[in-house]
Amino acid sequence: MYETLAKRTSTLVIDGRAVAGERGTLLVIDPALGEPFAECPSASSAQLDAAVAAANRAFAQWQHSSCEERRALLLKIADRIEHNAPELAEIIVREQGKPLALAQMEVGGAVAWTRATAALELPVEVIEDSPTKRIELHRRPLGVVGSITPWNWPLMIAVWHIMPALRAGNTVVIKPSELTPLNTLRLVELIAEVAPPGVVNVVAGGGALGRDMSGHAGIRKIVFTGSTPTGQDIMRNAAGTLKRLTLELGGNDAGIVLPGADIDAVAEGVFQSAFLNMGQTCAALKRLYVHESQYEQMCTRLAAIAARQKVGNGLEEGVSFGPIQNRDQFELVCELVDDARAAGARILCGGEPLPGKGYFYPPTIVADITDGTRLVDEEQFGPVLPVIRYATVDEAVLRANASDNGLGGSVWSSDIEQARAVAARLECGTVWINGHAEVLPHCPFGGCKMSGFGVEFGLEGLLEYTRPQLFNINRPAP
Ligand code: NAD
Repeated sequence: MYETLAKRTSTLVIDGRAVAGERGTLLVIDPALGEPFAECPSASSAQLDAAVAAANRAFAQWQHSSCEERRALLLKIADRIEHNAPELAEIIVREQGKPLALAQMEVGGAVAWTRATAALELPVEVIEDSPTKRIELHRRPLGVVGSITPWNWPLMIAVWHIMPALRAGNTVVIKPSELTPLNTLRLVELIAEVAPPGVVNVVAGGGALGRDMSGHAGIRKIVFTGSTPTGQDIMRNAAGTLKRLTLELGGNDAGIVLPGADIDAVAEGVFQSAFLNMGQTCAALKRLYVHESQYEQMCTRLAAIAARQKVGNGLEEGVSFGPIQNRDQFELVCELVDDARAAGARILCGGEPLPGKGYFYPPTIVADITDGTRLVDEEQFGPVLPVIRYATVDEAVLRANASDNGLGGSVWSSDIEQARAVAARLECGTVWINGHAEVLPHCPFGGCKMSGFGVEFGLEGLLEYTRPQLFNINRPAP
């Protein structure tokens, strides 16, 4: 299995053609081995220009495609992804690190999301229809959409960016993370088998290429998922050409377990949503607030669930927990846990990296910790959860909101009405009750504060890939 992938040559796709990178190649590291396993073509600025020019040429036609044509293309793409699911899942495990079953879920999610986006309608809204006037609000595509993606859910997020852009009549240039480029290169190869040339192009490279995209005069919108500092840089660079932006940035989501919750029932859900994808999920539960009356019980339950995880290479049978995706993130997680330990926190399980070259860090539960510690105040984006004691619900809400981020939040309780009242006080884009981190293709998702702006998914998400055009029709007098 390893051999097939290592021998495969990945290419950029520009104007429907497979091309090598003019900046040579980048090495792609397998996080389970801590060493390179494949090469990826690196695109030059001239190749970005060529991709943008091809996308603009394709837009001249594609913007006029009918609703049925766009829908048919998305359904063909979904079929191509589904047909190549085993290969895509294997690529994801090797470059991203997650266990195979989770990578298969990611590919399945990509197929489902593509089909759900195909089914969306873009209605013409009639604002006035009187004897003298008819006013209609139409939605037009924007032009070339530049997509810049991160390394945590690389295929899923590429699909979240590409599909609504196409469905609304735009064309795309995508740049995956330099840490996980291979699945997106393969995805666009598959798209190119069924899409007109230039409708979707892929260039690969690092932050410098991303900067070129955010300042590029031929791109009308950037959809970006990644860290807050990068989002801010994109916004600065996009100002010169007044691009539209959707920015899905970092989160530091709080979960509040209300007094009297059924801890046995809640603990499993809390664990799964905090450690989803080894905690490397934007809207994972990243800080847990538990009432003092149930604090020890919750800590014990979470540590017991953590102890059940089998940590290892995602391609091995029975592994439920893979490595951290890259060395920088791995070192950050080590640093945050060491800092918490030095501040007197109790490490209930995990707390040390595993020996070897891979970036393995076991699921770690940290107790007796509070706000003002780096692990609570910063986004850890890894397999460690701080559990914080509180005395009153008002105090828990205040502390949950005392963050620059505002992506998601959750309230856990058997009393739904009480949970609703607390949910309404949380400053974030999504509040889950008795859950966390669930995103759905028909529900708008996005953050507030430093977690960004704009939404993805559902009709509201689709509208972000359009501009309104008003028809103001004065009827002739009879
Ligand atoms: P990152 O910001 O380091 O990189 C993301 C992408 O931006 C990469 O493709 C990178 O090459 C590119 N890039 C880097 N510098 C750039 C620049 N100056 N201009 C343009 N592009 C540039 O983020 P990451 O480390 O890959 O991802 C982790 C972060 O993403 C976390 O903070 C996480 O919370 C966030 N995230 C958010 C969501 C969401 O929906 N809100 C989803 C997933 C991840």
